[in-house]
Amino acid sequence: MTLLTINGISKRYSRVQALDNISLDIEAGGRTAIVGPSGSGKTTLLRIIAGFEQPDTGRVTLEGDLLADGQATVPAHKRGIGIVSQEGALFPHLNVAENIGFGIARGAAGRDARIAELLDMVELDRNMLTRRPHQLSGGQQQRVALARALGRQPRLMLLDEPFSALDTGLRENMRKAVARVLQAAGITTILVTHDQAEALSFANQVAVLREGRLVQSGSPQSLYRQPRDRETALFLGDAVILPAIVRDGLADCALGRVAVDGSHAGKVEIMLRPEQIRVVTDESNSNYGGRVVEVEFGGATCTVSVSLEGVALPPILIKTSSVALPARGDRVRLDIAGKAHVFM
Ligand code: ADP
Ligand code: MG
Repeated sequence: MTLLTINGISKRYSRVQALDNISLDIEAGGRTAIVGPSGSGKTTLLRIIAGFEQPDTGRVTLEGDLLADGQATVPAHKRGIGIVSQEGALFPHLNVAENIGFGIARGAAGRDARIAELLDMVELDRNMLTRRPHQLSGGQQQRVALARALGRQPRLMLLDEPFSALDTGLRENMRKAVARVLQAAGITTILVTHDQAEALSFANQVAVLREGRLVQSGSPQSLYRQPRDRETALFLGDAVILPAIVRDGLADCALGRVAVDGSHAGKVEIMLRPEQIRVVTDESNSNYGGRVVEVEFGGATCTVSVSLEGVALPPILIKTSSVALPARGDRVRLDIAGKAHVFM
């Protein structure tokens, strides 16, 4: 069932077309990531959904209620939408309990119990209740901001780069904790991020924005495996992109003959993710594909650069396990797992 419908939304700020005819459906109970480079319009879209900005044209509906249609608008506080932004924006002069309780009427029955319950939901200790925001770490502040937003029992939760100020390890923990909390509460969530790894691991639907346009949306797997174009492919991860000639589901390219998806034919560009390519140092095999020009040790995963023989292409980078690493100068064969993707 569709919870939120965004239909033909455009927004212009003097010279900048921040959003250009965006349409997107958000499923009830789902986790959607809106991903795109800085300035692509992510925050603008979220602010329009939340009700802090008015679209020039287009409609936003939530559970069938019209929230905005370019003229009329339902004010933000009446939309039943929670939002947590990058800064968290806690009230600095209020302690944790007062921050979390902000949206809950004073004197309401069970208010304290509810605040404690919200604190438990975001996995913070009870002894935090009397602390002020400046006495909390960045991650703890974000949890309090999330608890405050959850306290209003939103129909939809919007997260605008809420983890971006945190260090890598903490960011991953927070992302998992937040996904857990929101899933347990059954709240539909839209996460905005410029971090593709975060988007792919958090969401069951990913929407890619570029220069105010929706480039592609779908499951993380489908976007990662079948990106619409070269730019989207490279935005979502490392990719080996090669010119090829395709016939009958097979591509002739610098790696030899490779199976491809779809039913395309002719001169195309194909894409492989690095983990689809295995470097084989098999001296007994005379069918060598290239020479190792660089080996970058990275712990569990290493990157091997291979210069292909007989082609004027830059070396291709292959992610490989650190077990049985080839050495610089080795001649290697490249084995392909799965199908290459053909750009349309
Ligand atoms: P993102 O969140 O993806 O980084 P934004 O939605 O913040 O992108 O911005 C999209 C574009 O709109 C940018 O070019 C930005 O400079 C512009 N923009 C955003 N808000 C305003 C505003 N209030 N006034 C003028 N330009 C704005
Ligand atoms: Mg932004």
